[in-house]
Amino acid sequence: AALDERTRALIDRREAVLSPGYRLFYAHPVEFVRGSGTKLYTRDGEEFLDVYNNVPVVGHAHPRVAAAIAEQAARLNTHTRYLDEGLIDYAERLVEAFPAALDTLTLVCTGSEANDLALRVAKQATGHRGVIVTENAYHGVTTEIAAISPSLGGDDSLAAWTRTVRPPVGDGRAMVADAERAIAALQAAGHGVAALIVDTAFASDGFLAPSPATRATLAAVAAAVRAAGGLVIADEVQPGFGRLGATAEKPSLWGFVRHGLDPDLVTIGKPMANGLPVAGLVARRPLMAAFGERVRYFNTFAGTPVSVAAARATWEVLHDEGLPQHAGAVGAALLGMLRELTGGHPRLRDPRGAGLYLGVDVVDPATGLPDQPAATALVSGLRERRILISASGRDNAALKIRPPLPFSHGDAERFITELEGALRDLG
Ligand code: PMP
Repeated sequence: AALDERTRALIDRREAVLSPGYRLFYAHPVEFVRGSGTKLYTRDGEEFLDVYNNVPVVGHAHPRVAAAIAEQAARLNTHTRYLDEGLIDYAERLVEAFPAALDTLTLVCTGSEANDLALRVAKQATGHRGVIVTENAYHGVTTEIAAISPSLGGDDSLAAWTRTVRPPVGDGRAMVADAERAIAALQAAGHGVAALIVDTAFASDGFLAPSPATRATLAAVAAAVRAAGGLVIADEVQPGFGRLGATAEKPSLWGFVRHGLDPDLVTIGKPMANGLPVAGLVARRPLMAAFGERVRYFNTFAGTPVSVAAARATWEVLHDEGLPQHAGAVGAALLGMLRELTGGHPRLRDPRGAGLYLGVDVVDPATGLPDQPAATALVSGLRERRILISASGRDNAALKIRPPLPFSHGDAERFITELEGALRDLG
């Protein structure tokens, strides 16, 4: 569709003043002026269903979170160098949701900062430099973290002390063998092994749901890393806070628990305050005690009373509304619908994932290979049908399904109907 005058003008102004490093979604970009629950609205009042945004975990513009922010902002906003009972309350409640040894919280502002700090702690604690990551991982934007994020490709090349391993697919032997090679290579190069870091949803490596095989594989890799003196970092920036669903058998909010990992450091962020820049590092106390003896860590905007008010309200709503359980139930239903659709459609393959973090491959029906242009066309087709979604994974050919957690059964049906329509339009 041709761009309307306002959209054209906004794009021109944006291009003139903002960094070319930014990327807009869609050849036909969207401008939203309001959000509520799982819906976003344009200036003309068009309603879009959000199947993409994980940050507004309890729903767009949740009234309890908005009120908590407004109330605190109208009263006081300082920083972490004054006593603040709200911060202490929040930290106590948060660490209680982790295994007992993970008892110490450091607040930061972004997932990248959380990973950056985790690496800094690991490097200091071990005296080593080497970092092992999965081969298409994304962990963030700082110089240090871009250097362990192979999915960025391009000029942000990996550091000399980074080694990649295949993700835990199949029987996992490839990952274990890669890890053994990586450890030997890092030691031979004099870097040693500071840490293994994994995104516990393995999102950019193609979404890998926990299974007995992934558990055994990760346990073997973690043991090898520890034997080399390294630490284990779980990146929960995307999967954390219940996105993977909670069920009676699997009540945990964290992906590492589902994978049976026993990390030394856990990073959290994105959904933590429903959209305010709040992220954190949850770690074993002895590690942070040793770090704190040598380092004075102050992060101006991290853990301010307004940030904490947003994080507390988000945490309360998440629990009061039973959203991790809801994500488990609706996610299972949606996965069932996707399986049914995939069964009858040669362009879709292998729906997978957990809770409301699902992926499905878009393939060329003739070859069965990942079809990135078709995935891009589907994402655009869905945008015209007022569904927001993206493609991700190794070949950018997997649809990434990651809505706010209040996503309803009706939302799931609407998404499937429009996906069917967009597939039909593709021919
Ligand atoms: N880790 C993972 C797994 C992520 O997906 C992201 C962001 N997409 C980050 C870290 C970085 O978080 P942020 O953008 O808040 O720096």
